[in-house]
Amino acid sequence: MANYYNENTILYLNGAFVKASEAKMDLYSQSLHYGYSVFEGIRSYKTVNGQTKIFKAVEHYNRLKVSAEALNLPYTYLTNKLIEATYELLKRNGFQDAYIRPVVYAPANMSFSINTESFIVIEAWEMAPFLGDKLIRVMTSSFERPNPKGFKIHAKAAGHYVNSILASQEAKSNGFDEALLMDMNGHVAEAPGANVFYEKDGKLFTPSLGNILPGITRATVLELCNELNIPVEEKIIQKQEMYSADAAFFCGTAAEIIGLQSLDDKTFGLPWEKSLSKLIQDSYKSLVVENKQVLVNEIAGVE
Ligand code: PMP
Repeated sequence: MANYYNENTILYLNGAFVKASEAKMDLYSQSLHYGYSVFEGIRSYKTVNGQTKIFKAVEHYNRLKVSAEALNLPYTYLTNKLIEATYELLKRNGFQDAYIRPVVYAPANMSFSINTESFIVIEAWEMAPFLGDKLIRVMTSSFERPNPKGFKIHAKAAGHYVNSILASQEAKSNGFDEALLMDMNGHVAEAPGANVFYEKDGKLFTPSLGNILPGITRATVLELCNELNIPVEEKIIQKQEMYSADAAFFCGTAAEIIGLQSLDDKTFGLPWEKSLSKLIQDSYKSLVVENKQVLVNEIAGVE
C-alpha cells in the first residue's frame, strides 16, 4: 500500500493543523459504519512561475457543500476559509504538486437519524502531474452505476465508492487497466473515478448529467472545447457508439485526461497522437500549470 503520510505530515482537522500520526477520529462515527460521509479530490500544481495553484479550488469546495447538503450532513464551512486552510496545509507540508482530500464526516451515531454536527479533515499527499503518455485498456463493467433513484448520485459520497472499487477490481483481475460502467438503462455512464468522452468525425461526445458525478474536469473539457472551437455534445450514449469511436478518454482530477487504447479489446479509429482528444489533453496540461492564481481574498464572500 502507498505511504500517504509519515511522522512529519500535517493535516487539517476541524480548524487545527495537527500531525497525521497523532490525529484521532471517533471509531463510533456513522461515517465509518455506513459509508456516510462526503469528500473531494482536488489537485494542486507547481505553476510555470514556480508558485503553487490549487486547480478549481472554488468549484471543488462548492461541490463538497452540495454533496454534504444532498446527504443532510450539516455543513457550516466557508469555501474561502477552506481554500485558505488548504494553501496553508500545502505550505506546512512543503507540497506543490499534490492531491488534496477533504472529508466531511459524521459524529458517533449508530441510528439513521440526522446529525446536528459534522467534522472536516483535509489530508494532502504529493502527487506528480501525470504525463498522459500511456493509453489504458478498458473493459465494460458487469457492475452498473448506482440508480439515481436509490442514491444522490451527483454527490461525492463515500458509500458510492464501494461500487467503484468493485468495478475497478473486476477490471484489474480480468487483466484490464480500468472499467467503464453503464447506467441503470444500459447507457454509457462513467469510469469508477472519472468521466468519459469519445470522439467521432471531429466532434466530442459525453454522457449527459443525471446518472453520473458532475465532474469538474468534465466541465473543464467542455470549456476547453468551446475555446478551441471543437464541437461537443452531451447526450445519451450507447456502448456501440463508443466501439466505433475515433478516440476516447477518461477525465478526472486524479486521472487528468487519459486516453483509451481499447474498450473491450476493440481499438479506436485514430492514433491517439492524431486525435482532437490529444489536443484536449495537451490543453488541459497547460491549463493546470498556468499561473492564473485565484487569490483567496478575490473570492471572499463565496460560500
Ligand atoms: N466520476 C467519478 C465517479 C469520480 O469519482 C470522479 C472523481 N472525482 C469523477 C467522475 C471526475 O470528477 P472530477 O473531474 O471532479 O475529479
